[in-house]
Amino acid sequence: MLGSMMMRPLNVADILTFAADTHPTGEIVSVRTEGDLHRYTYADSARRVAQLAHGLKAQGANPGDRIATLAWNGYRHFELYYAIAGIGSVCHTINPRLSAEQMTYIVTHAEDTMLFVDLTFVPIVAALRDHWPKGLKVVVMTDRAHMPDGDYLCYEELLDGHPESYDWPELPEETAVGLCYTSGTTGNPKGTLYTHRSTVLHAMMVGLSLPSALQPGKKILPVVPLFHVNAWGLPYAAPLTGASLIFPGGALDGESIFRLMDNEEVFSAWGVPTVWLGLQGEIANQGRLPTGFGDMVVGGSAAPASMIRDFEERGVNVCHAWGMTEMSPVGTQGNLPAHLADVSMDKKIEIKSKQGRRIFGVDLKIVDEDGTRLPHDGEAAGELYVRGNAITSGYFKNDEANATAFDAEGWFGTGDVATIDGDGYLTITDRAKDLIKSGGEWISSLDLENTVMAHPRVANCAVIAVPHPKWDERPLLIVVPSPEGKPEVSELMALLEEHFAKWQLPDDVVFEDELPLTATGKVSKLTLRKKYMDHVLPASG
Ligand code: ADP
Repeated sequence: MLGSMMMRPLNVADILTFAADTHPTGEIVSVRTEGDLHRYTYADSARRVAQLAHGLKAQGANPGDRIATLAWNGYRHFELYYAIAGIGSVCHTINPRLSAEQMTYIVTHAEDTMLFVDLTFVPIVAALRDHWPKGLKVVVMTDRAHMPDGDYLCYEELLDGHPESYDWPELPEETAVGLCYTSGTTGNPKGTLYTHRSTVLHAMMVGLSLPSALQPGKKILPVVPLFHVNAWGLPYAAPLTGASLIFPGGALDGESIFRLMDNEEVFSAWGVPTVWLGLQGEIANQGRLPTGFGDMVVGGSAAPASMIRDFEERGVNVCHAWGMTEMSPVGTQGNLPAHLADVSMDKKIEIKSKQGRRIFGVDLKIVDEDGTRLPHDGEAAGELYVRGNAITSGYFKNDEANATAFDAEGWFGTGDVATIDGDGYLTITDRAKDLIKSGGEWISSLDLENTVMAHPRVANCAVIAVPHPKWDERPLLIVVPSPEGKPEVSELMALLEEHFAKWQLPDDVVFEDELPLTATGKVSKLTLRKKYMDHVLPASG
């Protein structure tokens, strides 16, 4: 028997309409590429989004068109998310840190019809445009006074003179709303095509799961980019809950982030660990936290225990989260449940170093090489599979990838290797392709890194597999020293010996001034593996 409730489709446009009605004074503050700070409210934003939607229609945008963005976190990028979605087109966010080849691949693969670009990235467009689909309209996200020379439309002129309201169409909730390609460390990037339904549900899931930051009056700094992984859902979850968004533009170094947080009294900051390493440095310089800072979400790659401890001991609640582009992206979050609220600091750090527990709408399973489910006992490690309400059911126009992305039960393979304990805590031990296989046994690079990061003279580190004639692969530790100077290798090994068996220890330690990063700000182990492919390890057993 079917129930008899209204079947109103979930629609992204409703989020901003709701915010404008219900949280009209919630703010969006943006560091602009023009060099100044811009601020307005959700109510102001909704009016400009309506104007932009009219402007897009006037340019001939049709439902289903892929309309690309190449932009920092700022209010105009936010407006594009909503205006493009609202008219039934698809907002295709492009990561400006991709290689020229990858960018050309995805613009062509997505068949973008328009591209909105921040001033900073105009040179990228100028260099690549000849290789992109003919007829692609390029709009520069600025006003007339700052327009570059060339065949470009002006963003502010697109809005000028249009009505400040729009009669949003009622779209089926399965309508595509956004497209985001993973950087694809091997092979071509793969696109996840979100729906209105998945996006609205994900916004509600994130709002429910991370309530400390997502509240009216709270200010959130998304360092996680709008150009990748939907800024972890914040452009939707923040207006839905009334939290304000403080967008940092392109100024992402520790000093700039500190200043912005301090001036705006940001409560909660969201981003990858590499960004927080920079902020940690500035906090140490100034000997204080930015005013009002009390909460952070860290994910995208593993947050070292030493970093979590540093922030927690300064009174900042750290939520270690895990997810991926294909999951909208949040899968788990690590705020302590009520029954663990009073644990000791050491225990807290131990728990928070794990990647947290699933949020509603995400199911997790770990399996062995035959696909057999493994127990959730915190010991058994296997490949992590997921299913849920905001998880991809297939990459955009990519039969080849889709042929192997799902198991027989329809679960999506994350490519991560993990354990899940009896309380539901997920621990990512590695990306499958980063695991080190030594003499038939697996060594977790993340575990080794986490331990080494605790040394005060280690600013950053990575453990990678180096080919070995006898053992297939052996671990090599690469260390970036802190400004105080290099740590002694013997000290690093002593630290590791406390936690690992002898055969798991790195065979060699090398020092680098910095580690190469991927387009999404993670340490690029692929680049490191290539660099050290022929590294000669000292003779070992
Ligand atoms: P890409 O890194 O390829 O651009 P994503 O941004 O979607 O793609 O990254 C998803 C991957 O990032 C996950 O599969 C996982 O390997 C890694 N990851 C995300 N969060 C964490 C975390 N908290 N700890 C460890 N790994 C993480």
